[in-house]
Amino acid sequence: MTEKMLQFVDVEQAMPEKRTAELRKQDFQEIYAQFDVHGAEVQASRCSQCGVPYCQIHCPLSNNIPDWLRLTAEGRLEEAYEISSATNNMPEICGRICPQDRLCEGNCVIEKDFSSVTIGSVEKYITDTAWENGWIKPIKPNHEHDQTIGIIGAGPAGLAAAEELRKQGFQIHVYDRYDRAGGLLVYGIPSFKLEKEVVVRRIDYLTESGIQFHLGFEVGRDATLQELRDKHDALLIATGVYKSRELKAPGVGLDNIEEALDYLTVSNRQDLDDTLDDEMVKKYNAADKDVVVIGGGDTAMDCVRTAVRQGAKSVKCLYRRDRDNMPGSAREVQNAEEEGVEFVWLSGPEAFLGAGTLTGVRAYQMKLGAPDITGRQAPEPIPNSSFDLPCDLAIMALGFEPEDLPTMFDAPELRITRWGTVTVDHSTMMTNLPGVFAAGDIVRGASLVVWAIRDGRDAAEAIAQYLEVKANKNKAA
Ligand code: FAD
Ligand code: SF4
Ligand code: SF4
Repeated sequence: MTEKMLQFVDVEQAMPEKRTAELRKQDFQEIYAQFDVHGAEVQASRCSQCGVPYCQIHCPLSNNIPDWLRLTAEGRLEEAYEISSATNNMPEICGRICPQDRLCEGNCVIEKDFSSVTIGSVEKYITDTAWENGWIKPIKPNHEHDQTIGIIGAGPAGLAAAEELRKQGFQIHVYDRYDRAGGLLVYGIPSFKLEKEVVVRRIDYLTESGIQFHLGFEVGRDATLQELRDKHDALLIATGVYKSRELKAPGVGLDNIEEALDYLTVSNRQDLDDTLDDEMVKKYNAADKDVVVIGGGDTAMDCVRTAVRQGAKSVKCLYRRDRDNMPGSAREVQNAEEEGVEFVWLSGPEAFLGAGTLTGVRAYQMKLGAPDITGRQAPEPIPNSSFDLPCDLAIMALGFEPEDLPTMFDAPELRITRWGTVTVDHSTMMTNLPGVFAAGDIVRGASLVVWAIRDGRDAAEAIAQYLEVKANKNKAA
């Protein structure tokens, strides 16, 4: 092993510099700076090059982390980029927004009592450097196929599949109902976690690689599923999950109770300098308001931190479990607390107060009861524990479910699960309709970007195999 590695004993863990909470509350820019060359090399050199790298095992893309850390430590960045990009279509995006504390870094096993290698920040550094140095070039396939593939949804699952299939020379058409490609990378995740330019750079690269985007094109409205099946040799459904989970409580219909994704989309559009209706901007603006966000996942964290940046008077997050049992990333909770968000743990909404317009949220305290079938302790309300919080903007971040795709696509024959996700054969990613595949959140339910990329890559492999068999059959006929 190179003598550069195994430096964890002498070198402490360091993240790239984080802007102070006071500064970062003033804008929507990313909160972490970039490593400099020295910082990246030194942090990468902390890796002990494990024989069985648990970091890699717990990365959904099985990224070859030890190898790209070693190459970074040795100053061989272009080679590090080649290895990192061989398994990941968006390493600079995953480096920014993967919940590393639950995935690679959370499973880094450098000796006990030493903190993990900062894998995500090094991954981001490698690919940002590759962009800056012009190492990332548009795809030029060795051979062009006539076969065309339609991809419905330009989120990370659809984009990863599009890139992998384009590399093999297929003609790719991506359909998306939004006016921009990127899915939740653009309209869900705020810029303080992932600046928009980072996504736009990827889309430009895919466009220059010959992938054709049909934006503002909603399948179900502008074409049925069958019409697209007739047009293409294979189809991939990668439409994500967008139906907000509903809460039933007295007063839930009052004004100023908003859905998280509507709120974040307006904020993201403002950040993109889109022209928006004044009424809409006012409705979704938290400035000078007492804001209560209900939920404890990534979406809730993004809402509370957006409200802080909009100049809210106070921001509270109401969550029915405790800190240790919250689904959101621990790092994001810490960032939110630093920015002044107050977490009201073990509490749930009982009623929304006000006459026509919201003035407060009545909540009750909860305790964690017996574990349910998933092993998680179920929260139970504590009788007579109600308390009121002043509130003039409540944001519901209770999670997302699939829309009714068979109806939406005018394809009643498309098989779905009882949760509304699309049923696939997991060895081929194919639905019950021949030549129609599915990937990402629409198959697994609301998940993570890195899992959407994994699925997109798996679907691409399966589609390529399917098309090869189809082409051979056509030749033989
Ligand atoms: P999406 O990204 O949802 O993309 C689906 C695309 O399909 C969209 O562009 C949509 O417009 C399009 N579409 C839908 N229906 C149609 C139709 N009928 N016709 C045409 N187009 C259609 N994950 C992380 O890893 N880290 C995070 O920090 C993180 N933060 C998040 C914050 C928020 C607010 C949210 C909501 C999610 C977050 N996630 C995060 C989860 C992550 O964004 C998703 O798991 C991921 O984007 C799923 O990718 P996808 O390609 O399956 O779907
Ligand atoms: Fe870690 Fe995500 Fe990168 Fe995998 S893709 S190495 S989980 S940051
Ligand atoms: Fe290096 Fe940690 Fe991975 Fe081991 S688990 S190879 S120390 S990053």
